[in-house]
This record gives sequence, structure tokens and C-alpha cells, in this order.
Amino acid sequence: MIPESLIKELSQPGETKLVLLVLDGLGGLPIDGLTEMEKANTPNLDDLTKRSICGLTDSVSIGVTPGSGPGHLGLFGYDPLKYEIGRGVLEALGQGLILSPNDLASRGNFATKDKNGIIVDRRAGRIPTEENKKLIAFLRENISKIDNVEIILDSGREHRFVAIFRGKNLEADIKDADPQKEGLPAVPAYPLSDGSKYAADIINRFIEKVNELLSNQKKANTILMRGFAKLPKIPSMKELFKIKPAAIATYPMYRGLARLVGMEILETGETIKDEFDTLKDNFDKYDFFFVHIKKTDSFGEDGNFPKKVEIIEEVDRLIPTLLELKPDVLVITGDHSTPSILKSHSWHPNPILLYSRYERVDDVKHFSEREFAKGGLGRFLAQNILLLMLANGLRLKKFGA
Ligand code: ZN
Repeated sequence: MIPESLIKELSQPGETKLVLLVLDGLGGLPIDGLTEMEKANTPNLDDLTKRSICGLTDSVSIGVTPGSGPGHLGLFGYDPLKYEIGRGVLEALGQGLILSPNDLASRGNFATKDKNGIIVDRRAGRIPTEENKKLIAFLRENISKIDNVEIILDSGREHRFVAIFRGKNLEADIKDADPQKEGLPAVPAYPLSDGSKYAADIINRFIEKVNELLSNQKKANTILMRGFAKLPKIPSMKELFKIKPAAIATYPMYRGLARLVGMEILETGETIKDEFDTLKDNFDKYDFFFVHIKKTDSFGEDGNFPKKVEIIEEVDRLIPTLLELKPDVLVITGDHSTPSILKSHSWHPNPILLYSRYERVDDVKHFSEREFAKGGLGRFLAQNILLLMLANGLRLKKFGA
């Protein structure tokens, strides 16, 4: 990948419209001989494939299974190894919380400890979400600040929550306040550098207060805190690529990831059709659109092959409305593969289709992983997709004389 300073130098604004359509976890593996993409009836995507150039990408590296965070950073044109998004930040973004650069975010668990201070259940018996909400409301009422650090708490599912420490001089270089195993004593947050001593002290005072407040609880009588992280310092897409980007996504985490790189977040409805309608309604206002379809990944993670197939077919039916907008450059790809048979993300490369009037259309005829493996784009690092989109949008200057 070329350095960011060079990208800044080469990129230039333009009039062209670029659309990045991400079907989360698109790539799959065969069951009874066919992958989800191969099984899906996709006349519109097949037709588009015939007019496009195709290939495969690796999100982080060959063989590495990416999380959705690095998967998307790569798609947005950033080096996912350079900009690490910590667990606490990802969790906060996933809950729709908006972080500022000073915030220190952390994941939390309600947990159970016995009278000797031994953690006997790291998940407090997976208390119901409703109970979690009550506990968080109670903690909020009683702890809003420690020193000048504001404490922001947000319930997650079952035993999980997010804590944001908002204040100055909070460094995230802190070892988890979590013994990681049951049957071990609780441990305090431990600073791994001088700079993070203050934050660790605030966190430990917070945990102490929580312990006092929860001392009468049967199950959730303590908390564990882990994944301390701050927003990575990351140049915006506008700054790097000279584009005016907007994101259309239904899940908070992807909206959060898009916000992280300076995309405008567009309000949209729940369905895939709603997302395509939002694209149409805003097509004049921006020049780069990230459209995120979540359910291909969700059904892959559930091991639900037929439903993943259905989502691909649903997207297929909406492709003509997208093409009516006449994007100059359209990329359809995934952020990683999620084969239903594995019920998880995987290391398999992502199918990518690039539609643009300036590409060398290849001989690939079907929208599928194995067909795309024969495509003209070959196999490359996903981080380069954005450069390819800019180039096809005539937004990259020549390098050198
Ligand atoms: Zn994903």
C-alpha cells in the first residue's frame, strides 16, 4: 500500500459518484456442492457481473480471519494493522454511543464474587437484560463523576455493559481489571505505562464504588472491566481521498465505524429496500456512498444457509434501482467471509465486483466466489479497493512526471 502522504498528494476532488455496497460476510463455502452465492438466484447481479471486472480480496492478509472493525477499515482504504480499534471502542460504537477523542471506553461485565473476593461467575449468571438496565440506572444515579472525569454507562445484553470515562489525560494503556478465569481473585486495572496511571486510578476508584453499591446484590455484586481503548487518531476520508462520503447502515457498529473516518451518517429504515431508498434520496448530496447490508453475515453466523441465500437474492432484486442512479463506479464486496457451515467469520478471500466504464470487463458471468476467482482483478488486498474506485472515478493524479 502506498503511504497516506502520497494518497493525499494524488487524490483530487471530482464530479463522479462512487458507491461501495458491502454485503457483510458475503463469501461462503459450499454445502451440497454450492456456496450461498452460487445457490442464490441472482439474474441482476449476474448481468452486472458480465459488464464488470471481478476478483477476490484479502481483508487483512492471506489466512487471517478479520473482525468487522479491521474488515471495514480496509474497505474504507485504511491499513487495518496501523489503526487498531480497541474492544472498548468497538463495543461503544456498537451500542450507538458517540465517542470524542478524550474518551476512554471499556467493556464491562456484571460478575459474582464470594466473600473472599474470588470471582465465582464472570457473567453473574447471565442476568436478564432488564435487570442489567435497572442496575445501570442505579449506578448512574449514584456515580456520575470521579474527580473531574465523567462516567457514562450504557447497558448491553445480559451481563454486558459499556463504560466511558470522559476527561483529560486518560490513557488507555491499561491491563484488564478481570482475572479472565473463574476461581481467581478480582484484580484491579493495572497501568502499563506512566501515562495511564491516572486513568487506572480513576477506573479502580470506580470499581470500588460500584462494589459498595452492589454489595447487597446476590448475583451481580461486582464488575469486571476490560478492553480499555480510545479512538484511534485517524485522518478523515475527506482529508485523504478528497471525497464527500456518506454511510447508509442499519447497525450502530457500522455507523460508528463510518463516523470514525468522517462519513456523514444518513438516517435510514430497517429494511434493505429502505437503505436503497436512502441512497436514492441522497444521491445528489454526496459523491461517495458506503451502503452496508448486515444480514448476510448475521445468517452466516447463525449457520442459516437458506436465509443467507435469501438476503443475497433480496439485494439482487434491488440492483436495478441502484443502477438507475447511474453511479460512475460501483463496487460490490464483503468485509470478510462468513460461511454458514462455519457459523463464523473466516479467512477466505472476499468476492469483489467493480463496475465502471473504464475497466477491462472480464469473462466472468456469475456472481459467485469461484467464478470471481477467475476474474480480471485477480486477488489483492482490500485496502486497495478505495484507490481503484478513485482511479475509476478519475480522481487520482499521475504519480511522477
Ligand atoms: Zn462483518
